[in-house]
Amino acid sequence: MSNPRDRGAFWGVDIGGTTIVIGFLENGFRRVATMDMDIRESPERTLERLSEAMEGTGTPAGAVGVGIAGLVDAGRGILVSSPNLPEWRDYNVRERLSLLLRCPVIVDNDCNVFAIGALSRGLIPGSGLWLMVTLGTGIGGTIILDGRIVYGTGFAGEFGHMTVEAYGRECPCGSRGCWERYAAAGALSRYYSEFGGEEGTRPVVIAERAAAGDVNASSAFTRFGEWLGIGLANLYHCLNPEGVFLAGGLSGSADLFLPSARKEFSSRCGYEWNVMQLPASSTAGAEGAALMAVRRFDGAEEGA
Ligand SMILES: [Zn+2]
Repeated sequence: MSNPRDRGAFWGVDIGGTTIVIGFLENGFRRVATMDMDIRESPERTLERLSEAMEGTGTPAGAVGVGIAGLVDAGRGILVSSPNLPEWRDYNVRERLSLLLRCPVIVDNDCNVFAIGALSRGLIPGSGLWLMVTLGTGIGGTIILDGRIVYGTGFAGEFGHMTVEAYGRECPCGSRGCWERYAAAGALSRYYSEFGGEEGTRPVVIAERAAAGDVNASSAFTRFGEWLGIGLANLYHCLNPEGVFLAGGLSGSADLFLPSARKEFSSRCGYEWNVMQLPASSTAGAEGAALMAVRRFDGAEEGA
């Protein structure tokens, strides 16, 4: 079998709960489209739309990397479950997409591919133990050791489903009291309404109001930070990393919640606080996915 590089470009796809970003590597990463994600659509139809968009560019795919939000069995290319993509349960993304595009496909979770993108840009150091935590609809996590992602037996880094409240809120994962029920977007909106703001206000609006002096909004962020700090203290106890990188939509509001997160963290452990934001990027996930495809399929390893 020939090298994928001879047959086409290395493509990257980032499938999120609201959008799909696609592009390929050619002197850096070139985004070619951002598609709407319809979570009620069947995965078959979504992947058909995706492959049609890719084929419509006239740049054939030699190999494709896919990042997708949820619990991914990277070895088999299956999305096991995703609270935000209920139609995709136990769906073999790799098999379907490689049939449609007639090229090899590798699949991993969106947080891991974002980390690969951040590593390649030098934003995450290539030595030492680091964690990445993405704050958005849920909480994603990645463990990075000496520039490589740690998978354990497959799923390491699912920080969002670490229990932080023994008999707490139910989670779509089937457990209860999961961290992402207390320190992700839905929780922030909930805190805002508990402090007197309107129900269902989106995080971006709460952030604007907090910046403009709305006390309910800043109280919501303070509480959000406290729960973030609780989970971070747990992670430091377990892994004692050199530091933690925050990413995801909510990390842009870090100024509003990091002070209370740090205070809570320091009241629960004695480790040195080293928590930073990664710069926002709408393409880092798709770029990381394309780089993952290069690592897996370029050259001698292909066909293995
Ligand atoms: Zn959970």
